[in-house]
Parts: sequence; structure tokens; C-alpha cells
Amino acid sequence: MKIEERKVTVREVTEGYFNDAEEGVVGYDGRLDIRPKYQREFVYKDAQRNEVIRTVMKELPLNVMYWVDRGEEYEDDPDEPRYEVLDGQQRTLSLCEYVDGSFSVDDKYFNNLPSDQQAKFLDYELFVYVCNGTDSEKLDWFRIINIAGEELTDQELRNAVYAGNWTSDAKRYFSKTGCAADTLAGDYLRGASIRQEYLETAIFWAASAEGKTIEAYMAEHQNDPSAVQLWNYFRSVIDWVQAIFPKKRKEMKGLPWGLFYNQHGKRTDLDPKKLEMEIQRLMSDEDVTKKSGIYEYLLTGEEKKLSIRAFDRRDALAAYEKQGHKCAICGEEFEFEQMHADHITPWSKGGKTTPDNCQMLCRDCNLKKGAQ
Ligand SMILES: [Zn+2]
Repeated sequence: MKIEERKVTVREVTEGYFNDAEEGVVGYDGRLDIRPKYQREFVYKDAQRNEVIRTVMKELPLNVMYWVDRGEEYEDDPDEPRYEVLDGQQRTLSLCEYVDGSFSVDDKYFNNLPSDQQAKFLDYELFVYVCNGTDSEKLDWFRIINIAGEELTDQELRNAVYAGNWTSDAKRYFSKTGCAADTLAGDYLRGASIRQEYLETAIFWAASAEGKTIEAYMAEHQNDPSAVQLWNYFRSVIDWVQAIFPKKRKEMKGLPWGLFYNQHGKRTDLDPKKLEMEIQRLMSDEDVTKKSGIYEYLLTGEEKKLSIRAFDRRDALAAYEKQGHKCAICGEEFEFEQMHADHITPWSKGGKTTPDNCQMLCRDCNLKKGAQ
């Protein structure tokens, strides 16, 4: 990891300043992504913003800022690399917005200042660390400085480390408000596109299909010209969900559909009509306490996904007394706390969580019964 100290004047950093809610914020003559495209905006309080301006006016030092060298050349000029602000986004934005005339501090806009004060403001030097290194070095280091910084999400950090055509294109599909992924699959995804949660989910699914981590997947594709491959994969996942479970329900939101698709996408035995009847039955079964688990249960048969209702203490105590403190299978006596309340007829065979279907078993008998 190479970290270079650099002095950058406010004049330099505000040159070519451009701010668009979706398109991002750029400065430093177009070479610095102050806020990259499709990244959420941080909310900075007016008081904090004004304090930054007063600090510069008084020529007091601001905390050091961190830029990352994106490893791309600007308009093919190797002497003009591109940078991204990793820490110091709000301070940089405050300075740019003030010089741009967007707000006043102590009743003065920038253009109300006498020209010598304006010049002094523009000549103020920001202290910047520019860092360059391998992707994993950058990611480790970003995580450390982010602790005190503006709380970037993991995926925002990854986007900074693996910046390039592929990441930019992937963000176009997944990271914009009203983006293609939002329109297609917003009902199935948790989180917000602008916070990179959709992108993170999509990459996680695609990477899992190949047994890789998100970082390994991004490193492998970083220099691809486009992210159309990821988009096609994601569409296949959603197409499959809509074909197998055509009726949309709120319980479907946020489930790991890509992981289900990776495991079950090629099965030919899944009948959407039968599955829908099962979903209706399970949705209305009071013993199924985790309704969102129904989908995975239907794919895998794992009953634990449904969190079948357990007997309450009152029903268990009643059965314990009725059995004379004896295990219903081995007949030995146990303390109440050493026993388990068991469904006589298992839930999977139609047994309900009602007092007449409750029996107390010792630990060993319960385990043996469960293993059958
Ligand atoms: Zn027993």
C-alpha cells in the first residue's frame, strides 16, 4: 500500500464542480468523484457544514481527507489519474457548495466576501492522503478508516476498491432509484438500491453459484466492459421465482431467491399449481409461526424453516401431571425441567399443537423419536 501526502487547494478541488442527485458529484477538474454515481447522499447538518466554512475562513486545519487512486487514467492521460473521495465527502461537498453559492454562513454568501477573503478561501490548502495499493490492501485499510468516517456500507467500500467499467455498469442496473432491478424485482428484495443493497445481493447470489466470495467475483469481473452477464443471471433468478411461485406475497420480500435458484433452478418436479395450494394451506396453519419460511420448506422439506409452534408451559405441565411425572415412552420418572413436550402425532402428519396432542418425553426418548 502506497500512501502519498498531498496539499490540494480549495480552488483546485472546486474546479469543474458538478452535483447531481443520481449522476454523482465531481470536482478537481473532473478527476475526483466526490460522491460516485448512484451512491446514497449522506445527510450533513447545517451546523457541521457551517463549521467547516468557518474553519477554513479562520485558516485553522481541517482533519485529513482520504482519496483513493482509482487506477484509471483520465482521458488516457497517465499523468492525470482519477480519484474517489473515501473519507471527507461531506467536508469537500460543503466547500464546493459554499463556493458555488448554494448557502450562506453568518449571513454571507461566498460572493458577498471581499475579493481578498475570497482569494484566501480558495487558496486554503486541504491535507489529503492519496492511497494506492492492491484491492485487498485497500479494502482492509478502508474498513479501518471507515470506523471513524462516514459509515460506508461494505458494498460501497467494495465499489470504491473494484471501481471500473464493470462496477459502473452494474450500478446502472442495480443502484439507481427506479433502476431496472427495482422495477423488475423490488418486491423480492430487501433494502434500498441507492445504498447498494440490491447490488450486494445480486453479486452475492451470482458469486455463490460459483462458490466465490463477493470480493473474488468483483475482482474477476472488474475489467469486463459491461455487467450484462450479472444482469442476465439476476433476471433468470427472478424469472424462475415468478414461474414457480407466480402469486406474489409480502412474505417473499428479502428471501435469498438467488440461493434457492442456484440449488433448485434446474429441477423439473416443481409444479406451480400444487405449490400454490400448499402455500395457501401453510399460510393458514396457525402452527406455522414463520410464514416466510414456507418457500424454503417447500423446496427442501426442512420443517425447521417453519418454526412450528411449541407447546406452552401450561400444556406441558398438564401432560406432566397426567403422566405421573413419567416419560411416555420409557416410563421412568423425571423432573419437569428434564423433559420435553412432544407432538404425539407429528405436525408433518397432521398433528396440531393442542393439549390432546401433547406428551412429555425424557431427553433420550425425545432425541430417539426425533431421529426416526
Ligand atoms: Zn424416556
